[in-house]
Amino acid sequence: MKPPLAVGCDAGGSAIKAALVDANGRVHAFLLRRWTPGRRAIAPRIARVIETLKVRAGTDWRRVVGIGIAVPGWLDATRGALARADNLPGAVGEPVRHILARRFRRPVVLEADTNAALLGECAWGAGAGIERVLILAAGTGVGAALAVAGEPVRVAHHVTAHVAHVYAGPASIPCACGRRGCAQATLSAGGLVARARRAACARTTATAHDVFRRAGEGDARCARALRAYARDLGRFLGELSNLFTPDAVIFAGGLSGAWPAISDTARASFARAAIAPVPRLLPAKLGRRAGALGAAAAAFRLPWDERLARMR
Ligand SMILES: [Zn+2]
Repeated sequence: MKPPLAVGCDAGGSAIKAALVDANGRVHAFLLRRWTPGRRAIAPRIARVIETLKVRAGTDWRRVVGIGIAVPGWLDATRGALARADNLPGAVGEPVRHILARRFRRPVVLEADTNAALLGECAWGAGAGIERVLILAAGTGVGAALAVAGEPVRVAHHVTAHVAHVYAGPASIPCACGRRGCAQATLSAGGLVARARRAACARTTATAHDVFRRAGEGDARCARALRAYARDLGRFLGELSNLFTPDAVIFAGGLSGAWPAISDTARASFARAAIAPVPRLLPAKLGRRAGALGAAAAAFRLPWDERLARMR
């Protein structure tokens, strides 16, 4: 019999990514669909993406033993739903796990997106073989999680800590929560764009990618905004490592694609902030696929048996 596969789906604030993954972390199929879910339910849309993946998988679909869904927010594990989600407000309370399990006749697990990225990196990426791994994921939002021996530490709501609204600076950038300088406001993609806008190097429509590009093209003001971002990021990672004392800190999420451009500044700032012994600071290895791969890793941990195999 061919080895089992799992579906990993990363339902973020701006895109759904879905992957068909084997137990070695090899991706057999991958899909990315942009979406703006707003206040709408998310299960029907996720189901459509998985349906497309199923068509691509063909007969390999029979090898799928479980489905993992990574979502940005707090989990209600009993109901298999989101309890709080700033970027997916319409999904709060929606019985996502139940809907997808019934439709695809597979066990489904919901996992907080940062935990999923952490599981992926610990299984097949930068955190493999490391005992205590702290991850900070920065993209549309900002989240952090700690794993010990490959297992996410779940202090409350299935996550390690809520770092999104911890102060990261600068105070000049307001946060949607009403305070100023939160990591969510300053270290997210929006935070980088806000810095660039203040430095008058980005139009209001600019994205974080535009800021990287213009800095790379020699725009001094964009380069300065990027350096300031890297400095605050490194310091914040140092503060987090003082709190959680990991062996390694992984920088993940959409903004980790900029690591080559910001690593020198971020590392120097990290080394100043972190108390010895300073943990290793590593960029994520799985890139934009980390959440989907980690969701698949979570699905592989689900109990499944022969009865399930016969059910198909
Ligand atoms: Zn805030």
